[in-house]
Amino acid sequence: MAKIIVLDEHIANQIAAGEVVERPASVVKELVENAIDAGATSIEVQAEEGGLSLIRVIDNGFGIEPDDCEAAFYRHATSKLLQGRDLFQIRSLGFRGEALPSIAAVAKVRLVTANSELGLGRAIEIEGGNLKLNEEIAAPRGTDITVKELFYNTPARLKYMKTIQTELGHISDVMYRQALSHPEISFTFRHNGNTLLQSQGGGDLLQVIAAIYGINTSKGMVAIEAENLDYRITGYIGRPELTRSNRSGISTIVNGRYIRNQGLQQAILRAYHTLLPINRYPLLVLMLDMHPSLVDVNVHPAKLEVRFSKEPELNSFVEESIRSVLSEQVLIPQVVKQN
Ligand code: ADP
Ligand code: MG
Repeated sequence: MAKIIVLDEHIANQIAAGEVVERPASVVKELVENAIDAGATSIEVQAEEGGLSLIRVIDNGFGIEPDDCEAAFYRHATSKLLQGRDLFQIRSLGFRGEALPSIAAVAKVRLVTANSELGLGRAIEIEGGNLKLNEEIAAPRGTDITVKELFYNTPARLKYMKTIQTELGHISDVMYRQALSHPEISFTFRHNGNTLLQSQGGGDLLQVIAAIYGINTSKGMVAIEAENLDYRITGYIGRPELTRSNRSGISTIVNGRYIRNQGLQQAILRAYHTLLPINRYPLLVLMLDMHPSLVDVNVHPAKLEVRFSKEPELNSFVEESIRSVLSEQVLIPQVVKQN
């Protein structure tokens, strides 16, 4: 029998990369979440060839302290969890400290960051987990990170990548979700030089909905607002005539994090139940705010699935709130048509 040894950092990062970095869209998601956590008000994302040849994320957030830049790429290194109990009170999007080391293990990464307005920052380059450069550099406050040749050293993973169009589709989904979750941030997304999304960042969710789904669609949405002791619901819900052929138009955002939850989705569908034709689904963007202890986001590395501690109460509140807005709306189209 071989002796038991602890995996070295390099191997551990490559294994974690298999979970965290499934495809180019996962890199975009992690980097954009870091930019959001850094308090950025403007985030620009560039991708080339479906993100396989290049992904670049530029933010105007608070940057990384020069002495911390290398540590940001260490495994389980994070500035977001100060004490163990913080895990049950998570407000930031990141907290595992896994993204940067995982990405750097399977790509060529260049990070330029500055945490002051003094114009001095730091550049770091890491290729396949190996540090190539760490030097002072002139840079504006914020972070500019470039990820090139994703999976260049893991050919088996690279082989599983789909067409550029498919990978681009996944990245676009990530960008749409982030823009919907953060109407207060201005997002720009370019692929091969073409601008595919531009949101203003003024905090107007309806404007983001218009940028993604089109102006006409946004006109068919009505505001929702409801609150009880535990939960606050805001956002826009589509009138029943705005139906879609699948569930991808159902966006649920909990404390600024785009999430998916089976029970919540069922509650939403129940609220629309008799109003939609069979096999048609609604379009809506539901923002839920609650105390972080009421939601567990530490279910999966991608943090898309969450668990709620008072699920039945939440679901019935959501169902009732949507139904009450819809029941008012059903009468309104006739009134509008008469004018
Ligand atoms: P996590 O987000 O889970 O903390 P990451 O590996 O994504 O882990 O990032 C490690 C650390 O690097 C973060 O905790 C943060 O301190 C820093 N960091 C990464 N990206 C940025 C950014 N765009 N702006 C400021 N700090 C960043
Ligand atoms: Mg992160």
